[in-house]
Formats: sequence, C-alpha cells, structure tokens
Amino acid sequence: MADTTILLVEDEKNIASFISMYLEKEGFSVRMASSGSQGIKAAGESAPELVILDIMLPDMDGFEVCRRLRRQSDVPIIMLTARDAPTDKVVGLELGADDYVTKPFEPRELVARVKSVLRRCERAGRGYEGPLSSGSITLDPEKHEVNAADEPVKLTGKEFDLLHYLMLNSGLALSRQKLLEQVWGYDFAGDTRTVDVHINQLRKKLGDAVAIETVWGVGYKFTG
Ligand code: CA
Repeated sequence: MADTTILLVEDEKNIASFISMYLEKEGFSVRMASSGSQGIKAAGESAPELVILDIMLPDMDGFEVCRRLRRQSDVPIIMLTARDAPTDKVVGLELGADDYVTKPFEPRELVARVKSVLRRCERAGRGYEGPLSSGSITLDPEKHEVNAADEPVKLTGKEFDLLHYLMLNSGLALSRQKLLEQVWGYDFAGDTRTVDVHINQLRKKLGDAVAIETVWGVGYKFTG
C-alpha cells in the first residue's frame, strides 16, 4: 500500500486535510488538488492509483473532470456526491466513475470504499479477473463457475453477478438500491424486492458456505 498514490481533488481545505489524514494513516500516499484543472494536471503527472473527486469544485464540476480524466486513463475514480442530489451518483457512474460516497460520510466508510475499488480494479486488471475465494466458496468470473466446498453450484446469471459483486465488496454494507444499480443496471424497471429474492436464493443454494448478513434498514453485507 505504501506505493499506492491517491489523488484527492477537493477545494474545501478542511475536508481535504481530514480525508488525507485518514488515508495516510492507512498507508496511502496522498496528493491533493484544489481545483478541477489542477486535478487533471496532477493526474497526468503523478499517475495515481485512484482518484477521489469532489463534484463541487471552483473552476469546473467533478463530472467534467471525470469526463476529461476518462479520455486519458482508466484510473479508478470515486466521486464525492451531496446527499440532496441523488442524480449525481447516476451521472457520475455513467461518466465512468467506479463508485461514489455521499457527503457527509464517515472517513472509515471512504477508506473501505477506496480499498474495495482498488481490490476490484486490481483483480479486474481492467481485463483479466482471477477467481475470488472466501471460506469454502470459490467464484471464477472467467469460467463463470461457483464452487462450495469443491462442489459446483448452479446459479442463474443474476445470482452469479450478485454473488460476484458481494464478494468484491466483502465487508461493506450495500444498499438494495446500490445492488440493483450495480447488478441489474440503472434502467432496470423492477423494485428492490428483486434483490431480496435473489439473496434468498443464494442463501438457499449455498447454505452454510456463505454468510450474507442482513443489515437492518440498509441492505446486505457479505462477510465470508
Ligand atoms: Ca468541494
């Protein structure tokens, strides 16, 4: 992690130094930029492993920065969105951001997301994805196979995608809405009950091999 540089694009000094302090405590190197143009310049110069990008910036908004960064690289991007602007996250993800965190947030949540996005992108290699394993479960994205205690388990396409997403975000509480967006896509017309039905199927098919916790009032968390 010592060689992992994170570029933080945020003009509010208090928030920036607060976030940076937490990331450095976790062993990341942090480079800061206080405007969109500075951020784009710094991304080119320091080739960060990940960018944390605020939407409200003095010269151009975070969406524009995201769009321009995407023209030059596939660096993982986490956007900081405001709670009262629910469409921000959708726009951000459509522009190629990897994840978003809603302000105000717990620094621990941001750190967990940073690690999760890095893990996801590293595993993906933005190309090859190796098998994931947890406890007695192995999921191979390339072969589209799941084994529980060395026995193959038959999952439907969506069950597989859901389990894959949960495993990539192991330890994080994921809302039903987020799971719908990430696994089914934004234009999916169904409701969040769909998620519950698929989670129940996974629990039934995988039994004791998986622990998918229900997080009351939020959604689900894969814990192994
Ligand atoms: Ca800002």
